[in-house]
This record gives sequence, structure tokens and C-alpha cells, in this order.
Amino acid sequence: MSDCLFCRIVEREIPSTVVAESEDLLAFRDIDPKAPTHVLVIPKAHYANAVELATADPALAGNLLAMAGQIAEAEGVAADGYRLLFNTGKNGGQEVFHVHLHLFGGRPLGPMLA
Ligand code: C5P
Repeated sequence: MSDCLFCRIVEREIPSTVVAESEDLLAFRDIDPKAPTHVLVIPKAHYANAVELATADPALAGNLLAMAGQIAEAEGVAADGYRLLFNTGKNGGQEVFHVHLHLFGGRPLGPMLA
């Protein structure tokens, strides 16, 4: 989708700092990080949200989670713990409607809805 920001990142039409990539997935640093480690993991194919992805391609959804775990290890945040988050829809705080898994780590993250 040419009007989708993250599709354009996948196509390298918009620059990003890539931390991991596979045939189907891309992970890059959030442009406005909310924690010392803040990485977004996305499928290269366009799905609007996490449920749409998991319904259409459960294996890819699982691979996306597994990649997040590998990145947490590589970033050195796995031992102390981290947060994985899918904002979903307007009230969920989703601003980019190409599914993305937030990986936050590197500091205590506080209460869930803080
Ligand atoms: O979950 P939500 O849709 O709100 O998150 C979108 C995220 O995409 C934000 O954290 C924002 O900083 C990030 N972003 C980015 N690179 C862009 C545009 C947005 O990392 N070029």
C-alpha cells in the first residue's frame, strides 16, 4: 500500500534504522523512543492490526513474536524484562495502521497504563 508509512519503510522509500530482518519481517528503531530500547517489529505484508495478522497468518504472527524475543536478547534487555505491546485501533492508541509490535526495554516501565 503506497499510502502506508510502514509499507514505505519496508520498501526503503522512507529511511529507518533496521535492527533485524527476515524474508517476511522487519524490525527497526522507533523514531521517537519511549525507552532506551524501543523497537518496532512488523510483517512486510500489510495487515492493519495484530488480530488481522493473527487471523490471516498465525505462523507469521508467531514468528513476529519470536523475532521480538531474539531482539530483546540482542539488545541485552531480556534478562531484566521488557514490554511487548500492540496498540489496536483508535482508543488503543494506534496511529499507524500497519500492525507493529512495540518492544520496550532498558528501564523499569511502571504500571501498564501509565
Ligand atoms: O502504536 P502506534 O501506532 O501509536 O505507534 C506508531 C509508532 O511509530 C510511534 O511510536 C512512532 O514514534 C513510530 N514511528 C516511527 N517512524 C516513523 C513514524 C512513526 O518509528 N517514520
